[in-house]
Amino acid sequence: MTDQLQRFLFDDYQIRGEIANADHSFKEIIKNHDFSPEVAKIVGELLVATTLLTAMLKFEGKIAVQIQGDGPLKMAVINADQNLQVRGTARVEGDTTGLSFTQIVGKGNMMITITPDNGERYQGIVDLQEESLSACIENYFEQSEQLPTQVILHANSTQAAGILIQTLPATSENHEEDFQHVCALANTAKEEELYTLTAEDLLYRLYHQETVRLFDKQPITFKCSCSKERCLTSLASITPEEILEIIKERGAIEMHCEYCANDYRFEVSDLQILLGDEHNQQH
Ligand SMILES: [Zn+2]
Repeated sequence: MTDQLQRFLFDDYQIRGEIANADHSFKEIIKNHDFSPEVAKIVGELLVATTLLTAMLKFEGKIAVQIQGDGPLKMAVINADQNLQVRGTARVEGDTTGLSFTQIVGKGNMMITITPDNGERYQGIVDLQEESLSACIENYFEQSEQLPTQVILHANSTQAAGILIQTLPATSENHEEDFQHVCALANTAKEEELYTLTAEDLLYRLYHQETVRLFDKQPITFKCSCSKERCLTSLASITPEEILEIIKERGAIEMHCEYCANDYRFEVSDLQILLGDEHNQQH
């Protein structure tokens, strides 16, 4: 029972929650990279955090959560859509062995970009001044939506999982107490339990004294959106002269997808549409 996200709701409190775990999708993301265990942990946590944040997609669209800093981890990003199709990549320079989250990311920020299929793009930014990724995300909700939120994230080099507990916008009188109570119980979940238990079992283990409504499972799958067509679109931004220059030097245009490690190769015959008349003039 891995690679899925499940939302839940407390009947007696104005609180919602989500449980997510990633196994195959996480392995697909890291298999094309040579990440240290420390970096893999951050990428895994970022993956789970991004799936938990897809609840912000109230429409068809995409979400990207990116961290960038001046530490050895220059950049890490996870892309997801409303169907929980995910991909991700990271850029690391230097040794990260034994370093903490703060040491690995350094000073920087976390950027959440929401791109609806129809509508305007939204971007939120928060400083990476906390000691963990989960604290950065809690901070983001505190600042941007004033919604008390607790995020628990765990990852090693092969598995990643997490829980999100969040106040609903309309709250009752005893709300703060309720929220503390629910969070305190969530905090008793062990890393191993998050990796191995089903959402039903985990919720029973944490909240058997509460009435919790669990929604349908949503599968998390790895999917890269790169394609030959998308490569051609990006090649359209350079001039035919430049394209021909590169082909003259290297025999073809080669493009590499950082996310899935797919290689694309274009020869003159593949680029007729882009080269058009310019190319014919050369002959
Ligand atoms: Zn790709």
